[in-house]
Amino acid sequence: MVCKVAKGASGIAVQYKDTSILLDPSRPGDSDFTFVSHAHVDHLHRRGKKSKGKILSSSQTTKIARARGYDIADAIEEHDSFDLIDTGHILGSRGLLVGGDKVFYTGDISIRERAFMKPARLPHAQTLIIESTFGRPEYVFPALSEVTHRTNKIISEMYDLGIPVILMGYSLGKAQLLTKMFGDWDPVYVHDSVAKMNSVYAELGIDLKQAMAHTEAESLGLLSKNRPWVMIAPLSGARSAFVKEMKDKYGAVTIGFTGWATGNRYKYMTGLDYVMPMSDHCDYEELVTAVKQCRPEKVYTFHGFAAEFAKSLREMGYDAEPVEKAGSGKNLSLDSFR
Ligand SMILES: [Zn+2]
Ligand SMILES: [Zn+2]
Repeated sequence: MVCKVAKGASGIAVQYKDTSILLDPSRPGDSDFTFVSHAHVDHLHRRGKKSKGKILSSSQTTKIARARGYDIADAIEEHDSFDLIDTGHILGSRGLLVGGDKVFYTGDISIRERAFMKPARLPHAQTLIIESTFGRPEYVFPALSEVTHRTNKIISEMYDLGIPVILMGYSLGKAQLLTKMFGDWDPVYVHDSVAKMNSVYAELGIDLKQAMAHTEAESLGLLSKNRPWVMIAPLSGARSAFVKEMKDKYGAVTIGFTGWATGNRYKYMTGLDYVMPMSDHCDYEELVTAVKQCRPEKVYTFHGFAAEFAKSLREMGYDAEPVEKAGSGKNLSLDSFR
């Protein structure tokens, strides 16, 4: 086999011929290349003075990362040995294809079209390293049109009663989709953290309504005066200070958007008024579709239900296993795994 895949101290590492590559490490390592798939903080690391090797990342990810306080400005986007493939997860997200068709690492991935996000297309690769966040059959999401319809219906009913609605999703990625999907309600305000990411998306060419940030709206008294309104805010539980304040002052109701919201457990745990299964990741069926599209000889799974998803794939006839720690069982002995 021309490549080895294992989990090191700071993340997944690939050894391809005599080249070592770290994939989304949590801290810098001494590999030849470090790949940063996208600008979510669990995939970013802080560059140290002694950081060696080249960084591979899209220019969009570099810009979003900088806005979040992570400097990967020395990243390169093109190299003869690698192709960066759009993974449809958030703006700028890429997977890494090594050696033309040898290894493909997905980072986080979605193959579903969502507003301005185009679905990922999987390249053929002999070895596929795929995320498995929702790698259990119970995680199958409804069509986006259904989520849109149900949400608009709730907002409409609340507007009739004069009740404001807070739409909650992760501030980078999900919140921009929510802004696009529900930005036609009037008035729309956004949490300050969402306003910041929305303006980064706008700078990168996404046509997003630039709604007023909530602290400004609040200081102008607009949240009292302009009721009902829609606000887009980061996902948090009903016990968070922000939600409590919005409920106490304005009687707002909350709708949380996340892939974890299949079934009733998530709603119960968070205490949100409504939840909608909507994700920037593949659901279980989409993960299986992604694997089929890739036609791999070997599959490694990581994130979430890695062992369960690998087992499901084995039952379908794939040679699949979760990425294991270096040195655990298999004869993996990569020098860079310290
Ligand atoms: Zn992500
Ligand atoms: Zn992630």
